[in-house]
Amino acid sequence: MITYDSNLKIFYSSLINDEGYFSGFSTRELQDGRKIENILNFFHSNGINFKKLVFLEQIHSTNISIYSSKTSDNVEKIVETDGVITSEKNIILTARTGDCCPLVFVDKNNGVIGVSHQGWRGSVKRMAQKMVGKMIGCGAKEESIKVAIGPTIGECCYDIDEDRYYEFLEEFDGYSKKIFHHRGGKIHLNLTLLNYLLLLESGISKKNIDYFPFCTKCDKARFFSFRRTNKKENFGEMFSFVIKSV
Ligand SMILES: [Zn+2]
Repeated sequence: MITYDSNLKIFYSSLINDEGYFSGFSTRELQDGRKIENILNFFHSNGINFKKLVFLEQIHSTNISIYSSKTSDNVEKIVETDGVITSEKNIILTARTGDCCPLVFVDKNNGVIGVSHQGWRGSVKRMAQKMVGKMIGCGAKEESIKVAIGPTIGECCYDIDEDRYYEFLEEFDGYSKKIFHHRGGKIHLNLTLLNYLLLLESGISKKNIDYFPFCTKCDKARFFSFRRTNKKENFGEMFSFVIKSV
């Protein structure tokens, strides 16, 4: 279940968080996640210890980095990547989104964690499934991987043009009745559901997937939204994170 923590001002999945694993999805109250100091401030002000904070360049690719720390810096940026996985403890993995779909992965039995960013480009290229494949390459097992799908633009607000529709249709014809909805002459895409279906297809069981019930564009009070603000000055991004201490 996705739950709101009113002290920390984050949403988190109860499938994931326990004494050894901590993850979450930030809200507007925690400010713009594109500024690394806002993310650091969240961890420092809540007394959460960590060795390193890792963030991604995010270029709408399906590149995934397997992270192991080699420097003593406490912040590290990974270039040209949209997903990161590690088995090391006390490393905060983060991604930033403002309508795109963030995914947090954990396999507590095998001690592997990951985070990824996928907008429509990453989703059409099956980024979620590539993350599962790389997690398994790092020692995770599909039956013990748990995934939280974070705040994403809802099907209510995500209309796509015809070119994009055909691009999705070509790849996901079998899902078309589920992921597309026609409204007022426009085609709407359900990005959360598509990523959910991709995870099921790669062998993750239903009971191990939590997904977010809100739309980032509709819910002005809690989320930034790229589409709502249309690049204007109030735009920001939420951050998603996961860290393990065991
Ligand atoms: Zn909406």
